[in-house]
Amino acid sequence: MTELAYTEPEAKVIAGAKEDWELVIGLEVHAQIASKAKLFSGASTRFGAEPNSNVAFVDAAMPGMLPVINEYCVEQAVRTGLGLNAKINLFSRFDRKNYFYPDLPQGYQISQLYHPIVGEGEILVDMEPGVARKVRVERIHIEQDAGKSVHDMDPEMSFVDLNRTGVGLMEIVSFPDIRGPEEAAEYVRKIRQILRYLGTCDGNMQEGSMRADVNVSVCRPGAYERFRESGDFKHLGTRCEIKNMNSMRFIQQAIDYEAKRQIAILEDGGSINQETRLYDPVKGETRSMRSKEEAHDYRYFPCPDLLPLEIKQSWVDKIKANLPELPDAKKARFVQDFGMTEYDAGVLTADVANAAYFEAVAKGRDGKQAANWVINELFGRLNKKGYSIDKSPISASQLGGIIDLIAKGDISGKIAKELFEIVWLEGGIPADIVKARGMLQVTDTGAIEAAVDEVMAANPDKVAAAKEKPSMAGWFVGQVMKATQGKANPKVVNEIIRKKLG
Ligand code: ADP
Ligand code: MG
Repeated sequence: MTELAYTEPEAKVIAGAKEDWELVIGLEVHAQIASKAKLFSGASTRFGAEPNSNVAFVDAAMPGMLPVINEYCVEQAVRTGLGLNAKINLFSRFDRKNYFYPDLPQGYQISQLYHPIVGEGEILVDMEPGVARKVRVERIHIEQDAGKSVHDMDPEMSFVDLNRTGVGLMEIVSFPDIRGPEEAAEYVRKIRQILRYLGTCDGNMQEGSMRADVNVSVCRPGAYERFRESGDFKHLGTRCEIKNMNSMRFIQQAIDYEAKRQIAILEDGGSINQETRLYDPVKGETRSMRSKEEAHDYRYFPCPDLLPLEIKQSWVDKIKANLPELPDAKKARFVQDFGMTEYDAGVLTADVANAAYFEAVAKGRDGKQAANWVINELFGRLNKKGYSIDKSPISASQLGGIIDLIAKGDISGKIAKELFEIVWLEGGIPADIVKARGMLQVTDTGAIEAAVDEVMAANPDKVAAAKEKPSMAGWFVGQVMKATQGKANPKVVNEIIRKKLG
């Protein structure tokens, strides 16, 4: 596997009123495991179902009901760990995290504190071609999601919808290696990208399939490097945790706000309270929600209802052998095999569906030309319409058909764009459309020569001028193309005109 070379960006320095500061950010990403059934029950995970229609007795915490682990969910967590270059722990265990929420009827959440299923890993967070930050992942654990309280349906009462209760989540915890708001957003984007490639989470942030808790602290320049050398968190500043962010834009805004807030307090001689905060996108500020609980507040203890999870290395190896090609590898391969720029390869691999589309178009064709059509014509058009690739009116085989017609010399690039337009609006098989509508390129030199002669006969003055000044030949090419409705092969037209002008 080839890898692209990169250098790490500088940490963002923020000038306070008195001193310079740097940001230190660590993220906890909650990703809903793509599984049809919940983590400990057979109830469906379908989004948008009738409230409380996907609830098994164990999800509702009926007395005596016991959780049964969903092996598929465990496999997805292992896949995710492997995709994040992380250590897979063959022994892991579930713990009860005790707290009360109306939408968590058990009164505790089954999670993994002491023995998570996945240990340390690392991912590259791309900032621009050739520049990437390596962010270490501390752990991934599996846990159950809570339900949803509904406060806006009745003036007097609150309701609860337990459909989401017990759905499997992966919590992906990073080290505090992220050094700026853009990096934090890109980190989430990269996690989402990898998970979508793996198929372990659909990454749908609007539906809440992915959300992040953002831990932010500030420190003086050099402090982070001391932390990296020693591994000792005491070199870092006190952090605040901004909960439940589900938009890259808000993540950046919240970090910007939080950095300013913390710096102002510190420069004023104050200290930061470790607390949980909420971001208000309307006001553009974070607000204190509660002082931060410590692990001991949750009275964690091993879940007595579940055996420890012991998995076999051979099973992990099998999962590893079946991993799909991941974004970094695909990008490097596109650069190498198709000779495209890292930027273009980044665009084409940004989403697993886009990459699959491109590969279908490029198969057996000129990769650079395929890339050009997919990025400039198709993505450009889709973006304008706000469509994702699965809503594309032009399929990969239709676009491939257009490219084939160009390669065969049946149509010019200009006609190809018209053809693209027709296929976009009306559908159909490109080769058939070209025949039916008389769009085939004329390469017949006799016919082209006749058209050239006609133009020259009508413009004797221009012929005389062009004989003096060969750069004027272009004017004739334009005229002939016009006369043939763009169907003449421009290369042949050019050759004939130059010959005739001597
Ligand atoms: P908790 O479970 O209380 O949220 P963790 O130890 O699991 O605490 O850490 C949560 C996140 O906070 C991790 O992503 C970690 O990298 C990050 N973090 C820890 N210390 C700091 C700090 N000083 N500044 C910013 N982020 C931090
Ligand atoms: Mg946390």
